[in-house]
Amino acid sequence: MNLVKTDKEIALLIKKEATRQKETIDLIPSENHTSRAVREALGSVLTDKYSEGYPKKRYYQGHKYIDQIEILAEERAKKLFGVPYVNVQPYSGSPANLAVYLATCTPQKDKIMGLSLAFGGHLTHGQPQSSTGQFFKSVLYELDKEGFLDFGAIEKLAQKEKPKIIVCGYTAYPRIIDFKRFGQIADKVGAYLMADISHIAGLIVGRVHQSPVSFAHIITTTTHKTLRGPRGALIMVTEKGLEKNPDLPKKIDSAIIPGLQGGPHDHQTAAIAVALAEASTQEFKNYAAQIVKNAKRLASSLSKAGFDLISGGTDNHLILIDLQNKKANGALAAIALEAAGIVSNKNAVPFDPMPPFYPSGIRIGTPAVTTRGMKEKEMEKIAFWTNEVIEEVKNEKLPTDKAVRVEFMKDFRARITKNKKLLLIAKEVKNLTAKFPLP
Ligand SMILES: *Cc1c(COP(=O)(O)O)cnc(C)c1O
Repeated sequence: MNLVKTDKEIALLIKKEATRQKETIDLIPSENHTSRAVREALGSVLTDKYSEGYPKKRYYQGHKYIDQIEILAEERAKKLFGVPYVNVQPYSGSPANLAVYLATCTPQKDKIMGLSLAFGGHLTHGQPQSSTGQFFKSVLYELDKEGFLDFGAIEKLAQKEKPKIIVCGYTAYPRIIDFKRFGQIADKVGAYLMADISHIAGLIVGRVHQSPVSFAHIITTTTHKTLRGPRGALIMVTEKGLEKNPDLPKKIDSAIIPGLQGGPHDHQTAAIAVALAEASTQEFKNYAAQIVKNAKRLASSLSKAGFDLISGGTDNHLILIDLQNKKANGALAAIALEAAGIVSNKNAVPFDPMPPFYPSGIRIGTPAVTTRGMKEKEMEKIAFWTNEVIEEVKNEKLPTDKAVRVEFMKDFRARITKNKKLLLIAKEVKNLTAKFPLP
């Protein structure tokens, strides 16, 4: 590795990050560990090429091989998801979603209808903080009291608001999404249905979550979550989408370039192609099934330890824990868990009384630990440790005054990183992770 010679600072930080990943348990449900093959493609000479345009229609010369790579990525995606059209160029999930709205909606006129961020929607589903909620009109739906999709309320809202596009697919929803029901609602009001399957794409190709292909017009997904590829995204149009609007592919292509992006990241495209091939194997199907088995075991073990899980459990790869009954706060819990070698993220729970930076919950998931080969037995251990950690932070009083809170957080961080119990758990975590090497 030449980096060590030319840039010691960055080389050392990469090495430290690799060690951090190796010695901790990654429960962030949007993260995963890519294969060496994926990273080899990503770190290749392909990053040096400029390829504005699409295969056989480029603005630069020198595309003999790049075109073949992009076509392979497209063919693999189409086959894997069962769709007639795909664009593999979006830099990531957020620009992919924006491109879909640019292709289907008139700015300041048409309406996007998505799940509110506070309930597990994504920023790019029309949130007012996101350009998707500023360039376009938007209306946001919510979950019911138990944390489930409320189709009666969603249908009513759609009929009243007449959105141009309805978005389903979430960041913190632990249950199966009924795409069929969404399709019926969209058809009733004449809207496009966009399924953003970023979190569950790997589960869908692994056949442990139903596919939106027969019900949605457009499907977007990131490639780096359960799908286990590099950072990136895909925009797909289904047969149903082509029937509604045969121009969708053309519109999406030009929304990406020249609408939103310049040259595609060819190294990313190649790595996506590699990940798509990996995701089409029986081994990957087994992996997807194990993700869900692990999440279910983790959920039941946490329930037994008295944790309050939103919706009561999970059908997929993630679990949303409401810590209010444990008298703990999500932000403090996430910091304490990290001190114990367990990496998670704080998350709002439905109808959260707390502000977004200090929410009442944490969100955890099993894609990364399952990639490392962990099974149900390890999930029980993780649930046990999680409970031990939360016991250490319950009854911490988070000040409501902002200035006092800043001081409190400083003190809390200093205390928690020296907590003997947590340091002991971190050591046990390190011992466990040593038996489950990274790819
Ligand atoms: C992760 C995610 C995105 C955005 O992806 P980025 O690559 O971070 O821009 C969009 N939608 C959903 C549902 C996601 O989970």
